[in-house]
Amino acid sequence: MKIYNTLTKKKEIFKPISEKQVGMYTCGPTVYHYAHIGNLRTYIMEDILEKELRYEGYHVKRVMNITDVGHLSSDADTGEDKMLKGARRENKTVMEIARFYTEAFFSDCAKLNIKTPDVVEPATNCIDEFIEMISKLLEKGYAYIAGGNVYFDTSKLKEYYTLSSHNEEELMVGVRDDVDEDKNKRNKTDFVLWFTKSKFDNQELKWDSPWGVGYPGWHIECSCISLKHLGEYLDLHCGGIDNIFPHHTNEIAQSEACFGHKWCNYWFHVHHLNDKSGKMSKSKGDFLTVSLLEKKGYDPIVYRMFCLQSHYRKPLEFSYDILDSVAAGYKKLRNRIAKLDKNGSVDMELAAEYKKKFIEVTGNDLNTASGITLVYDVLKADTNDATKRYIIKDFDYVLSLNLDAGEIANEQPSVDSETEAYIMEMIAKRAQAKKDRDFETADAIRDELAAKGIVLKDTREGTTYEIK
Ligand code: AMP
Ligand code: ZN
Repeated sequence: MKIYNTLTKKKEIFKPISEKQVGMYTCGPTVYHYAHIGNLRTYIMEDILEKELRYEGYHVKRVMNITDVGHLSSDADTGEDKMLKGARRENKTVMEIARFYTEAFFSDCAKLNIKTPDVVEPATNCIDEFIEMISKLLEKGYAYIAGGNVYFDTSKLKEYYTLSSHNEEELMVGVRDDVDEDKNKRNKTDFVLWFTKSKFDNQELKWDSPWGVGYPGWHIECSCISLKHLGEYLDLHCGGIDNIFPHHTNEIAQSEACFGHKWCNYWFHVHHLNDKSGKMSKSKGDFLTVSLLEKKGYDPIVYRMFCLQSHYRKPLEFSYDILDSVAAGYKKLRNRIAKLDKNGSVDMELAAEYKKKFIEVTGNDLNTASGITLVYDVLKADTNDATKRYIIKDFDYVLSLNLDAGEIANEQPSVDSETEAYIMEMIAKRAQAKKDRDFETADAIRDELAAKGIVLKDTREGTTYEIK
């Protein structure tokens, strides 16, 4: 297995610390809103990485945190707490928001065939561990208290910019949407380990600590949750490229300062999914979700295929035109596979040859597009159907595209954009009528649509429709 390592900026042969187990840590979602399909690009590619390792015979232990506290709207400790923002938006408690969006996240992952990690740990479960690591950092002189908060002192490190070049201006772009200089910091790059004198008096979640009642900073959670489940030496750490600075840079700073040795050997980063206006982000509000793709009639697996057809180290621009052509290709491919005869004996020698070929491409820094091309090669191979089906099923352990799930029936009739606009308008009118407790109008709208063969369905994510 070869993988590009952000730490060395080279493609390297992956060598785990122990042959017995690969320790893999993944930064999980901040659960204040639905995951958008950009976030999910990162999780799809991490899923491929995990499955490729398993396919090649490694035993992987994968750990993921759930950020349910401490992530401010700017990654550089300024702005508002994202969880509070979500709670206020929906008039709910922070924990209600966390529970709802954690469930929604795993439901989206399941629809995209993303395996749930072996360990999933919410940050709010690990307050004692955070306090322990922060206490150690204070003891060792790597942290200081100022204005009531505890900060990490980046000037105490021989090298702080381990993952990226020292170009602060460039690094801060996109991180500081909400610039608000913190006068307590001794150095510009210092970061908060524990907030007590918080500017958020209404912070819902607070815990007792040696430094007063407060709550943890964002970065400390990943260092501690990784330590708790994977120990002081880690093989592999993953995230999207926006995590490189400051989040992963700060994780390395605090973990290595605490342990006194190198922490993680390989850093894997997935490039962004962009829309026309740039990086897709939750804070922009207007973003694409899996449910929205479903509402528009796409099988979520088509989005997985869309992601696999480009390399994870290149930015990817989302477009419905490309998604449509992927959907058409996917349907043809599934239907070709469905037609393969199930009977016959499998040529295991050929299957082993193809497994080797698959590992040569997907195991080479996750060239998933070539992995998919290999599926087409198998269909053309000079062998019987049973062997073809066997090999494709084997590849699908990694690709997870439901390739052997049978024929795709003709999809429901698609609606033109004018009809779609009309339906959306009626759904909005009905929602307003329901809000105004005008159930008669709401029912009349539903009936009017039903008479035209448009059936409304009320789901937790909102109202969807089906054409009968
Ligand atoms: P968040 O829930 O905002 O903490 O992000 C969850 C994961 O999605 C992190 O690993 C981010 O780096 C990643 N991410 C955020 N935006 C994008 C995007 N537009 N494309 C790909 N990955 C993203
Ligand atoms: Zn993290």
